[in-house]
Amino acid sequence: MSGDAAKPAHYQSSFDAETTKQITDALTAHGVNKPCFRCGNNTWRLGTGYFSFTVQPDIYNLTLGGPHVPAILLSCSRCGFLAFHSTLTLGIQPPPKGAQ
Ligand SMILES: [Zn+2]
Repeated sequence: MSGDAAKPAHYQSSFDAETTKQITDALTAHGVNKPCFRCGNNTWRLGTGYFSFTVQPDIYNLTLGGPHVPAILLSCSRCGFLAFHSTLTLGIQPPPKGAQ
């Protein structure tokens, strides 16, 4: 484990300042403060947008546009490990449609 483990998580973001604060506040409130478990680094990059995981009721027949799980992405700035967090669990409200 590197010396970064004792420091609070640091986030680099391409979101605007308000959205970055909303996301990082939610991560902090939910205890997302551990360093990367792959390399021990404690600086994370926020993805440049939201992600959506489509729920597939049948693995052999791809369905588009059905139920989905919205998420934000954190990537370790050192090793690139990717971690997705559900915006539903974090209570993050994406901006209204068309406002981005
Ligand atoms: Zn890492």
